[in-house]
Amino acid sequence: MGGDTESLKSQVRKVFEGGGYVFATKAANIARDAGFTNPARLASNENPFGTSDAAINAAKEALCSGNRYPDETADSLVRALAEYHGDCGLKLNVVTGVGMDGVIENVIRTFIGAGDKVVVSTPTFSFYNLAVTAQGGVVENVRRREDFTVDVPEFVGACRGAKIAFLCSPNNPTGTITPAEDIEEILKGLLKENCMLFLDNAYVDFCDTDYRRLMKDYDNLIIGRTMSKAFGLAGMRVGYAFVPDWYLPYYKRAQTPFALNNISIAAAVGAIGDREFVKRYVNHVKEWRDAFEAGLKKYRMYPAGANFVMIDVAPQKSDDVVVKLAKKGVIVRSCASFPTLGDTFIRVSIGDSWENEMFLKAINEI
Ligand SMILES: *Cc1c(COP(=O)(O)O)cnc(C)c1O
Repeated sequence: MGGDTESLKSQVRKVFEGGGYVFATKAANIARDAGFTNPARLASNENPFGTSDAAINAAKEALCSGNRYPDETADSLVRALAEYHGDCGLKLNVVTGVGMDGVIENVIRTFIGAGDKVVVSTPTFSFYNLAVTAQGGVVENVRRREDFTVDVPEFVGACRGAKIAFLCSPNNPTGTITPAEDIEEILKGLLKENCMLFLDNAYVDFCDTDYRRLMKDYDNLIIGRTMSKAFGLAGMRVGYAFVPDWYLPYYKRAQTPFALNNISIAAAVGAIGDREFVKRYVNHVKEWRDAFEAGLKKYRMYPAGANFVMIDVAPQKSDDVVVKLAKKGVIVRSCASFPTLGDTFIRVSIGDSWENEMFLKAINEI
């Protein structure tokens, strides 16, 4: 091959010289090598009940229109979501993206250029940081308290001069729910700073806190949602957000055209129609969260509002515990890669009952 690849590499932007998303595939390989062809998959917060038949049937039908471009703005999905959320009594503006990750990228693209400041409540989901950095922005991490609750005045204070702040509730990986009253106080404080809040509600279906009413009074609020978790469509890549009226045209201009495809749109609309499927899963998660709390003999679990729990395995190290569990056929996530969290936490998804039982037995033996 001709060419000086070192010179070509020097053309790539510096932000991509290192870093990137950390995929947790090591534990799966260990479990496979230990002979588990069907291990308990508790590392990625997926729906263990599969995909709703309504979604599958709609997706199959959509395959037949593969020659046609999808609807540019996924109108049928936007309408179905607006109707689904009609129970909150507000007319919400819905925008979509390729997963909530895609939504986050679009939102960052509309606000952030080189050198712009973004505040992130941490430890949390790593993608905000990656997406901001890719856009040339600068992240200021604001640490949560010892118990992983948010110090509201400190968070607001840190947002001076920032364009947008990210806060996840229930938080990944700690599971912490930030009360709606605290979010409201943050929104008030941020309005004074001319700063937006992106509230990541990926796991909100699994708790009893409802933030949607805040869309009525706060023009600086964007609420991110996903169909990857409660709706069981992680592989379809469907995310969405509620946005204020004034922001809608900006999002649409920044959006990649035809981002969602015919199949993902159809599957999502189908899934929204099957409310029993979601309800059954959410109830299962709530029951098992309590069972985890009761069943853990040696380690402390944090209060959780999500379809996973975070457990402190001190004095052991999280990476070691992940390996030990994998050898017993249980795949969980080490939280050591979450900056500022330390190296003794694991995150465990609520799986199917047999997976949860397998986990409880294994963790109590370690
Ligand atoms: C899973 C997750 C998302 C987004 O998931 P998508 O699959 O991209 O929709 C966003 N935020 C958090 C905190 C998540 O855990």
